[in-house]
Amino acid sequence: MNSHQLFRRSRTRLALWYALVMGAILSLSGLGMYRSLVQSNWTAMEREMESIAGTLHDSLEPMLPTSGDPTTVLQQIFPELCLAGQPCNTNPTLIQRHTTGISDRSIYYIRLFDHQGTLLAFSPNQPPSLLKTLNRSPWQTFHAANGIRYHQFTTILHSAHAHHQANEPSTHPSWGYLQIGRTLKTFDAETKRIQWILVIGFPIALLLVGFSSWWLSGLAMQPIYQSYQQQQQFTANAAHELRSPLASLLATVEAILRLPPSNQHSIPVMLQTVERQGRRLSHLIADLLFLTSLEQNSSPKPFQPCCLNDLISDLTEEFLELATIADIHLTHQIPNHDVYVLGNESQLYRLVSNLIANAIQYTPNGGQVVVSLTTRDRMALITVKDTGIGIAAVEQTRIFDRFYRVDSDRSRKTGGTGLGLAIAQAIAIKHQARIKVESQVDQGSIFTVELATVFG
Ligand code: ADP
Repeated sequence: MNSHQLFRRSRTRLALWYALVMGAILSLSGLGMYRSLVQSNWTAMEREMESIAGTLHDSLEPMLPTSGDPTTVLQQIFPELCLAGQPCNTNPTLIQRHTTGISDRSIYYIRLFDHQGTLLAFSPNQPPSLLKTLNRSPWQTFHAANGIRYHQFTTILHSAHAHHQANEPSTHPSWGYLQIGRTLKTFDAETKRIQWILVIGFPIALLLVGFSSWWLSGLAMQPIYQSYQQQQQFTANAAHELRSPLASLLATVEAILRLPPSNQHSIPVMLQTVERQGRRLSHLIADLLFLTSLEQNSSPKPFQPCCLNDLISDLTEEFLELATIADIHLTHQIPNHDVYVLGNESQLYRLVSNLIANAIQYTPNGGQVVVSLTTRDRMALITVKDTGIGIAAVEQTRIFDRFYRVDSDRSRKTGGTGLGLAIAQAIAIKHQARIKVESQVDQGSIFTVELATVFG
């Protein structure tokens, strides 16, 4: 499987998992929302029924007769109710419609029973085929013959007279029962409406989750893909860099081995070439290992205060001989006060020495290199300025890449591995420092490293 397929498959898998998890979260929250909405509607409806039943009970209580036939009294109280066993007028007059106080007569119905459970009176709009016998459980839900669902509340009806005659032995604790019922038509319609919203909304949401998870997984894979490609490029570059000196070294050894005895005097010269190539290889491998250890952070030595004044003076002194050989005027400028930064001293030496080495290397004879140290807003600025060949603007962003050389032939001839600036950059990153370059072709370059100072 090639890398492209591998990344595509990983992206698909990531998107699927993301969509699956998001889908599960969405469905759970949708279901929870649906249940809580239906539940709150149901509770509100039951509360309303209880309150209507309570109001009716309180208004009936003082009027209920203690004994005798209650029908006449009931007819006076509820002129619109039908009395059990008597013909019923199902079309109450406008005045009658306002007597009992139930808010919506098309929704609610009431029924009155005596204490033995015999139906006394009922609303004409009660559900058809409703049983005349009393079911004493407080809440009931049932399907009527017309296919509509009803919800019904049954409460005990007390008579005010029963309390007044408390000293007399009472055979029944209540006068009778009051039933309030209502159709669940609007409630069911509302529930259906919520279900429809969920049924339509859920696939749309899932579709959006699917698209966004594909897009997000693409975003998540991008840096991994880039880093993978960089790694592959790096391996290819490293192999290429190692191959050239190795091939040259092997060729020289082969030539030495085939040398006729008459030419033995040229062996030392050839061995010098072998040594040079060997050194180059070992230098390259050391650089590669150092870069890897920097990136892996394999030796996390604690940072210590480092005096940049000493660092710059030492390095200028060290490079003075090389500069003199190359006929380059190397100088340094440091402030009178000591400038300290927190860091790994040997790595900071390596960073600045790579910059100075490059400045000398890419400056023609008779040129100048100035290393200076300044401070600004609690930052130490180390600048390495040369009057060398300079770097074109397009190359300036790439010179910090591993193995990148502006002029590969020239750089290789001068012994450059193409890792000097990559190492400098890695060290700068490790020290949370910034490294930048300003350069003009044939005018020179200025490399600046910005580090945070310590001790004020
Ligand atoms: P090398 O080992 O080839 O010097 P570096 O990573 O140190 O590799 O530098 C990368 C490239 O940047 C070099 O090939 C060179 O062309 C360019 N470069 C670096 N420093 C300078 C400089 N001071 N002046 C001009 N070119 C430079």
